Amino acid sequence: MWKRTIQRCSFSTTARRWTAPETTQQPFPPDINEWSHPPSNASISDEEVYRLAAKPRQPLTLADLVKHGKPPLPDAALLSSANFTLSRLPARLAHRIQALRNLPFIVVANPNVSKIYNNYLHSLSTLEPFYKKSITTIEEEIKFTEVMADLVRTHSNTIPTLAQGFLQCRKYIDPAEVTRFLDQHLRARIGTRLCAEQHLALHMASTGDAALQPPDPSHVGVIDLALQPASIVRQCESFVAEVCELKYGIRPSLVINGEVDAEFAHIPMHVEYIITELLKNAFRATIESGNEQYPIEVTIASAPDVTTTKLDALKKLSVTESTNHDFSQDGLEEYCSGDDSEMPPLKTAAPCITLRIRDRGGGISAEALPNIWSYSFTTFNKEEADEAANGGNGNSEGLNAIAASGSNQSSIAGLGYGLPLGRAYAEYFGGGITLQSMYGWGTDVYLTLQGIGKMDDLRKRPSAFK
Ligand code: ADP
Ligand code: MG
Repeated sequence: MWKRTIQRCSFSTTARRWTAPETTQQPFPPDINEWSHPPSNASISDEEVYRLAAKPRQPLTLADLVKHGKPPLPDAALLSSANFTLSRLPARLAHRIQALRNLPFIVVANPNVSKIYNNYLHSLSTLEPFYKKSITTIEEEIKFTEVMADLVRTHSNTIPTLAQGFLQCRKYIDPAEVTRFLDQHLRARIGTRLCAEQHLALHMASTGDAALQPPDPSHVGVIDLALQPASIVRQCESFVAEVCELKYGIRPSLVINGEVDAEFAHIPMHVEYIITELLKNAFRATIESGNEQYPIEVTIASAPDVTTTKLDALKKLSVTESTNHDFSQDGLEEYCSGDDSEMPPLKTAAPCITLRIRDRGGGISAEALPNIWSYSFTTFNKEEADEAANGGNGNSEGLNAIAASGSNQSSIAGLGYGLPLGRAYAEYFGGGITLQSMYGWGTDVYLTLQGIGKMDDLRKRPSAFK
């Protein structure tokens, strides 16, 4: 049985209930009796969770995600994609379970946080029948794909649920601990979700139904080899302008300049999520400062192609989700030489795209500026912020990014997750976000995204893509 020593609390796996020690000094919330783990039907043992969590997590790169080839995939490649996914997920899920267990008792006992904890236990137990041996038949692959679909569905509401849980616990824990946990958890979630979604997308584009609707030639699963940032900006603009129209009755305008035809290979769901959040901030500031006569300006710049070796490219693309894995030169070289058989030597250029989003929304005050990268920090008014944490106005329409991120993107602001989570998405594959505020005037936000290789190089790799 798993016993917690922190704050001397115990957890019974049979009753799925926390027992608070009588001597505790914690100021418990009045409804503490409801703050216990709801029963979970997860069958995975604590020993198994420990065992998996102790395994090193393998890195994930954009190159990994395209290496199984371009759909429709032959059976062997589909099996290889399933086994690759299986090699990455269990340790990652187990790690998250351990991290949740290590939170202070008062936090894990919160109904929203414990719901997320149970979701992880559930997902790990659904994987157990598969990872004990590899997936060798298409029938097993189909069952595994159903498990992946369940995993994506189960975790789709994680962000508002966790946000609400941590808001309810905020009196009882150190904000720095919250930020540390959320940052690690949400970054790890990006990788887990991406692994599952990539296999799902490859499966869908390779199965019988897909023959009726041929796969998009520029897509390898969830990756678009010819992603145009300008067109994503336009889609996000129209969504955010609609949200503004509903909330304020005003639609600010937006101009795009710079390299409007630039394209690179990246994951549209991620780019959509980040740009939607940045535009919401710029539109809100513009409207609230009464400056909607000045359009928001988005400038796109594409760095000159620098042809690099595969090793350099992988280094650039390596996962930044955790400080735990050491992506040393040796480790990388071993990794590159390790599971590389399907990947012919590739001269990979990783073009870097930068977007500058400039608004005349009055900038950010000196008091607010140090806090803007903290989860839950917002200058939005309290009632509306609470509504956002509770799931907003229930409008579930909109961009794929909403589903992809699992956050409620239909409110203009209020969760305080836009900047920190947007930055986590950008940094995941080696990009970043920086912000420059001129208080009293406006804000410039620089979003940098690292692509994977030159699209033409990838398209020309027939042995990898057939
Ligand atoms: P939210 O939008 O839910 O408040 P974010 O993380 O997106 O959360 O932003 C945090 C805070 O940073 C905002 O509440 C706002 O005060 C400030 N901020 C971010 N972008 C801008 C901007 N372009 N102009 C003015 N303030 C901004
Ligand atoms: Mg925001």
